[in-house]
Amino acid sequence: MNMTELQHFSDSALRGTQLRGTASHDVPMRKYTSWRAGGTADRMYQPADMEDLLAFLRSVPDGEPLYAVGLGSNLLVRDGGLRGTVLMLHGTLSGLHLELDGSVYAEAGVPGAKLARFAATHNLCGAEFFVGIPGTLGGMLAMNAGCYGSETWERVLRVQTVNRKGEVHVRTTADYEIGYRHVALREANEEWFGAAWLQFTKRDGEAARQEIKALLNKRIATQPLNLPNAGSVFRNPPGDHAARLIQECGLKGKQIGGAQVSEKHANFIVNTGAATAADIENLINEVQEVVRQKTGIKLHPEVRIIGKKLV
Ligand SMILES: Cc1cc2nc3c(=O)[nH]c(=O)nc-3n(C[C@H](O)[C@H](O)[C@H](O)COP(=O)(O)OP(=O)(O)OC[C@H]3O[C@@H](n4cnc5c(N)ncnc54)[C@H](O)[C@@H]3O)c2cc1C
Repeated sequence: MNMTELQHFSDSALRGTQLRGTASHDVPMRKYTSWRAGGTADRMYQPADMEDLLAFLRSVPDGEPLYAVGLGSNLLVRDGGLRGTVLMLHGTLSGLHLELDGSVYAEAGVPGAKLARFAATHNLCGAEFFVGIPGTLGGMLAMNAGCYGSETWERVLRVQTVNRKGEVHVRTTADYEIGYRHVALREANEEWFGAAWLQFTKRDGEAARQEIKALLNKRIATQPLNLPNAGSVFRNPPGDHAARLIQECGLKGKQIGGAQVSEKHANFIVNTGAATAADIENLINEVQEVVRQKTGIKLHPEVRIIGKKLV
């Protein structure tokens, strides 16, 4: 199927069928990524709900590349853009409730802060760390996001996934290879997270609320939250901190175009105003190379970089 036919597909899929979501074309991904930089996606579909997502997946032609995106807080889309369709899961899939067994059921579009506050309201502890991660549950499951000694998958009982045939699976942690900022399905299937059941501990909600406040203050004090960024750019190498190595190499403040290694937190790259995705990617590569030359340690990016470079 060529581009014109695909364009026609996404128009007619909405006109002629039961789909209830929102489709758009030529979508500037800088509006959907926290770096506020990058190229255009050919198509975007934001489902109305889970049923609608499944109906959409069943109607997508084979071969159409699909990318799930939540809050875009760990994502760089190159300036040449993204061929295919973005499944926009933030602003939808927002189901969140307590199950009878005390576990929390949350859909993939639920933001971390909402999850943390929901748990505290229900006198559950262990979800506080989610408050400072500006991602959706889907993105946090994909990244095994974590901080201050806690990780997303430590809390997972089961996940519900969807595939491009519009089929639903319920999977347990045993189905995945799980590590530091790493999650991979053992069978090589293309699946996305639709929801998860999470387990927390019963406790006084007031203590959890105090912890949430303290964690937010800690972030404000240590992170450059006034400029667009994507959190930590590199994974920490075993036994060390990427920020420490970058700082030691004298890279704080280093700038390429509109991208700058933050003066406040060396593992953050900020967009000072008009950074292109190429500025950011070039700075990532430069930092990686200088750290490798000066310390012998190869830093691995935590952020996901997708799409095509401008030619
Ligand atoms: C200020 C700031 C602070 C941060 N602090 C932390 C931190 O403390 N700890 C931490 O771990 N991260 C942190 N991050 C990074 C980021 O918030 C996390 O990686 C988060 O999990 C990304 O979620 P998202 O919804 O924004 O995912 P996106 O950025 O939209 O996507 C990230 C990846 O997940 C995939 N994905 C998204 N949704 C799904 C889905 N439903 N199913 C399958 N795959 C999916 C995408 O395809 C992509 O590969 C921070 C970012 C910022 C900007």
